[in-house]
Formats: sequence, C-alpha cells, structure tokens
Amino acid sequence: MVATNITWHAGLTHDERVELTGQKGLTIWFTGLSASGKSTIATALEQYLLQQKLFSYRLDGDNVRFGLNKDLGFSEKDRNENIRRISEVAKLFADSSVIALTSFISPYRADRDQARKLHEAGNLPFVEVYVDVPIEVAEQRDPKGLYKKARAGEIPEFTGISAPYEAPEKPEIHIRSDKVSVEGAVKQIADYLSQNGFL
Ligand code: ADP
Repeated sequence: MVATNITWHAGLTHDERVELTGQKGLTIWFTGLSASGKSTIATALEQYLLQQKLFSYRLDGDNVRFGLNKDLGFSEKDRNENIRRISEVAKLFADSSVIALTSFISPYRADRDQARKLHEAGNLPFVEVYVDVPIEVAEQRDPKGLYKKARAGEIPEFTGISAPYEAPEKPEIHIRSDKVSVEGAVKQIADYLSQNGFL
C-alpha cells in the first residue's frame, strides 16, 4: 500500500550539508561482469578516499543482497528492483554528502539510466564506471567459482552465460581491468574526480 499521509520536514539542505562537512556527495556506479574487478577496485578506491579524509561508503552484494534486498532473486524483474533500491540508497548517501560507491553487475542499461536520472533529478553527480574485461578473462579469474557453477548449469540466469549484460554506451570512466592494474584503475578514477571538481 502506498502511504499518503507522509509529510517532508524542513531540515538541512544538501548545500548546507556540503558546506558543513566540506565534502560534495556523489555516486560512483561500478558496472561490469562478475569477476571484472568491480569490488576489488571499489574497495581500493574507498581506502584511497578515506585516506584523503573523504568519507565514502561501498554498497555491494554482501551488505545489500543479504539485508535490504534479501527477498530478491536474479530474474529480470528482481534485478530491476534490486538496482532500483540500490539507486535510492546510493542517492541518500550522496545527498548526505558521502561518496557512495556501488558495486553490482547491474546488467541492464535501462536500470542504470534510471539510477542516473534519479540522481540528476536530485542534482547529485552520478559517475558510471564500466569495469570492462573479456568474459574469457573473467571466467579464468573466477574468484568465487561462480562461472564454473554456471557452466555446470548450477546457477540459472548467470550474467554473460545465460543472462545478458548490456555494456554502457557512454560511461564517464572506462576501465579495462585486463590491461590496467588495480592501482592504475584507482588513479584513473581519482584523476577523473579531481579534474571534474568532485574532490
Ligand atoms: P566483481 O566485483 O566484478 O565480481 P571481484 O573484484 O570480486 O570482481 O573479483 C575480481 C578478481 O580479479 C579478483 O580476484 C582480483 O584480484 C582479480 N584481478 C586481477 N587483476 C585485476 C585488476 N586489474 N582489477 C581488478 N581485479 C583484478
């Protein structure tokens, strides 16, 4: 049921929070195949930002799929809803002037575009990072053994094998994780952020 008796309370504005914290909030949205390196790069970036005394927080499968979204599976409909909720949560983090890092396959372009629109409507920057790797390399890495299971038919609707991945057409940042080291990827993102006035 949709609640109709909710009122917004006047409070601090986003601009006031930015002024008080000295930090601009934004969302850095990682997308790519499983094992492309999203979590590895996002974790290294989070550490780098925290070392610069920039408050950031990473949303990923571990803290979202087992909590807020534990009622969702991997059908297209559930994936849409998964990303919709993550978009809303990231937006709240960004609004609170935190740098939100999201690390999810997010295979559908329409879902990512919706996340972008949501941020733009709230005047919050949205930086899409495409962590790109040939599927053969991802499958070779297979840190969690998921590709092996998917090939054995044990995981239905596995992105890249039995479910689609729609690559971004114009991501703000394109990382070839088979060609760039984790440190190189963090530098690529940090350079983009500082060149665009986000840091
Ligand atoms: P995802 O979050 O996209 O599923 P993970 O970060 O969990 O991917 O796994 C990527 C794997 O690839 C890790 O085992 C990581 O050590 C390895 N890897 C090798 N080279 C790179 C690189 N340049 N960038 C990111 N990960 C890399």
